[in-house]
Amino acid sequence: MYDYHTHSSFSADSDEALEVMLLRAISLGIKEYAVTDHYDPDYRNEAYRFELDRALYTRELERLAGKYSAEIKLIKGLEIGIQHDVTEACLAMTGTYPFDFIIGSFHCAEGFEICAPEYAERRAEELYRGFYGYMLQCLGLYKDYDVLGHFNVIDRYAAHIPEDEVYRDLVEDIVRLLVADGKGIEINTSCFRYGMGERTTPTADMLRLYVKAGGEIVTIGSDAHRVRDVGFMLDRAVLMAREAGLKYLATFENREVKFVKI
Ligand SMILES: [Zn+2]
Ligand SMILES: [Zn+2]
Repeated sequence: MYDYHTHSSFSADSDEALEVMLLRAISLGIKEYAVTDHYDPDYRNEAYRFELDRALYTRELERLAGKYSAEIKLIKGLEIGIQHDVTEACLAMTGTYPFDFIIGSFHCAEGFEICAPEYAERRAEELYRGFYGYMLQCLGLYKDYDVLGHFNVIDRYAAHIPEDEVYRDLVEDIVRLLVADGKGIEINTSCFRYGMGERTTPTADMLRLYVKAGGEIVTIGSDAHRVRDVGFMLDRAVLMAREAGLKYLATFENREVKFVKI
């Protein structure tokens, strides 16, 4: 199995030692394990500083990759927070080290932390068109990432989720842009922990639109921040990929995609 989205205490929202997470992955028989700790400069909540001690982080990645090389392939990754005005900081971070894999995620939009009530409780149509419009604009400018993280993260926080038709044109524009830029998306199984029901991440409709637009690069990840969530429901993610017509999952090394059969 391949877990391509995980965190450790290098992220502001996790207390778990990286080595403990990795040992859990080894015990589960996971073949490739991507550590994708947060780097989210200018995160819109003072209580969370998603800075990253790059030197310490990469030293630990190197150490563990070597120590456990016979048991597991450790993928040296990052999850960056994309916002309009932080492009330079993200470019600087990804350029300082030969990372294998970069997830580009939206945790903030239009100047707000997306989980903030003053954002998430906007009228559904305004919220969704605003969020996906902002994503489209940002991805038109920022290209230094490999897959888009948790596409519909807004579903988790929105007071009301509108019909897909309300914002589908924007999703179609985004998937076309992703495909044109050679970027992937991820199936993020945290939706099953959050009890999102049919609103999987991405939704079946979004995944279908990406594949229909010619997209082939799909990773799967648990988004684990705690040991018990490592490898969480990845079988279900593979099933979703198959149902969308995919025959391969994407893996990464040195920012280059490689495909594995499913
Ligand atoms: Zn995220
Ligand atoms: Zn994450």
